Amino acid sequence: MDRFKYLGQLVNINEIKTVKHDVIVLGAGGAGLRAAIECSMQGLSTGLVCKSLLGKAHTVMAEGGVAASLGNSDDRDHWKVHFRDTMRGGKFLNNWRMAELHAKQAPDRVRELEEWGAVFDRTKTGLINQRNFGGHRYPRLAHVGDRTGLEIIRTLQDRGVHQGIEVYMECTGLDLLKDGDKIAGMVAMWRETGEFIIFRCKAVILATGGGGKAWKITSNSWEYTGDGYGMAYEAGAELMDMEFTQFHPTGMVWPPSVRGTLVTEGVRGEGGILVNSENERFMYDNIPERFAPETADTEAEAERWLDGDKEARRPPELLTRDVVARAIRREVKAGRGSPHGGAFLDIASRRSAEDIKKKLPSMYHQFKVLAELDITKEAMEVGPTLHYFMGGVRVDADSQMTRVPGLFACGECAAGVHGANRLGGNSLSDLLVCGKLAGSGAVDYIKSTATPNLNDEQAKYIIRSATNILNRESGESPYLIHEKLQDLMQSNVGIVRTDELLSEGIDGVMDLWKSFQSVKADGASQFNPGWHQAIALRNLLITSEAVARAARIREESRGAHTRVDFEGERDEWLQYNVVLSKNDDGTMNAEKVHREAPGKELERIANLSIEELEAEVRQERGVE
Ligand code: FAD
Repeated sequence: MDRFKYLGQLVNINEIKTVKHDVIVLGAGGAGLRAAIECSMQGLSTGLVCKSLLGKAHTVMAEGGVAASLGNSDDRDHWKVHFRDTMRGGKFLNNWRMAELHAKQAPDRVRELEEWGAVFDRTKTGLINQRNFGGHRYPRLAHVGDRTGLEIIRTLQDRGVHQGIEVYMECTGLDLLKDGDKIAGMVAMWRETGEFIIFRCKAVILATGGGGKAWKITSNSWEYTGDGYGMAYEAGAELMDMEFTQFHPTGMVWPPSVRGTLVTEGVRGEGGILVNSENERFMYDNIPERFAPETADTEAEAERWLDGDKEARRPPELLTRDVVARAIRREVKAGRGSPHGGAFLDIASRRSAEDIKKKLPSMYHQFKVLAELDITKEAMEVGPTLHYFMGGVRVDADSQMTRVPGLFACGECAAGVHGANRLGGNSLSDLLVCGKLAGSGAVDYIKSTATPNLNDEQAKYIIRSATNILNRESGESPYLIHEKLQDLMQSNVGIVRTDELLSEGIDGVMDLWKSFQSVKADGASQFNPGWHQAIALRNLLITSEAVARAARIREESRGAHTRVDFEGERDEWLQYNVVLSKNDDGTMNAEKVHREAPGKELERIANLSIEELEAEVRQERGVE
């Protein structure tokens, strides 16, 4: 009988609890919940597994809103304009089909949420209200104050739980099980007791969000260790566009304990301006040529736009995140930064205290509690913070399936919709649209698939890899390895990159892989955060290596990926994605892969001038 050692005791694999479902959804943010609802709605037995408590996911932290061309606040909006904005924001590297599905289906997904009970802020005429955000041509973000994610999660949870989805909370997915090349299940671990559980299923949908915890300054919380990327990679799926890590321009920079905490773009959407230590509104000097025709170049015009003048152009603070983050960094480097190395974000002088408290209640509260600062009276200090992964698991656009049969990915865990840079508000819409697509994809797949067999050897290997961390006599501290990794990623794979920095970064990650081989967690299996940290390290290292390798290969600057040794976008690079996968010898393969040519119609829409597109939309609607 085959046994493995677990805290000094020999345990029989057959004693590990096994649970059967048609599909397991890993991650209970918006993407996971929406995917699970779809599966369960279509009659599948659906298990939803999440690392923390149900409801505690990044989706719940989303403040600004969900982007959808409902046209409630500006009736010129249309899916084609949303699609064009998304492609331009993504510097045309987006998967064309995914960006099309996203823009077309987002309005239906938002209306569906409303039908399921979400209460959005309203316009004066009672429609869902929409606000401005960077890179969006019109006010497009449906919102609930600055607590949109909370309302979305509340609605999806209610819907899902009442539909009979079975939830496994505080349960960490470790690795996937396969029957030949197909998915057969997953091994997971209860965080509280350290006991293992085996899920038997025909399909797994990964919806584990991003991996921001590889960096030191990040808006991400503890769960975001790139687990979905690591698990997919180990199971034979590909990662794509990993070099495109978004540094949100406005994270808190002071006090140090909360450095990186997000300051929503909603502050700029509501009229907040960025100034340097010399009180200059420096974004006027940072307007890229591509965006010049749509960006105000005087304060007066920016004000007119904020007052609702449809002919005026947008304030430069609402340029895409990559542009604003680089501009703040430039000011700091030039010695014009704020006292703690950022810039000033001022809403106090632009809006009344009453307005600020009404429109941005969480921000008011956040600064009051964490920084003892009243944003209705003083400017905030802000600077770039690692926020979001545009890249992720490579999937088919329509089904969200990876190249591993039965393995799906959606939401931030998957690559494609956002290309080289994501627009604010496009993540919530992505996870609703792609969550549903992944659910339908899994339903179709399961219908035509026989029940796979479980392979005990694979399960034993996964469990042993986890228990070895506790059982070895001595070894490296998981906390120290993590700290070294965060320092390395912050300094070498940060907002500005060079070949030299990235090569050093890759070497550094390879050294940390060696330390990881002997990582040791002290204590017992119950309530053991050191053990959990050690387990997450593998995924953090895969994520970090993938980002560094992809960033070194892409010899251009595009969107969120800035190479000072290869400035500017290079046309030849528009033809490639960088794709990463695991070689048979266990090393990481990183290669340039030709992108599929766009359909003629989508290419035409994306390249129209805004005036041409607006005229086309008017004509289509018969308005002239
Ligand atoms: P998440 O919501 O991140 O959920 C991931 C889930 O996976 C969690 O349940 C987690 O516990 C689980 N998980 C991870 N690993 C494991 C594992 N090994 N085992 C089990 N479970 C696991 N986007 C917008 O569009 N608009 C906004 O206004 C906005 N504001 C934001 C504000 C903040 C502070 C942050 C951090 C992000 C914001 N974003 C916003 C981005 C957006 O919230 C996220 O990209 C999005 O919510 C990701 O959703 P998701 O469903 O893919 O994953």
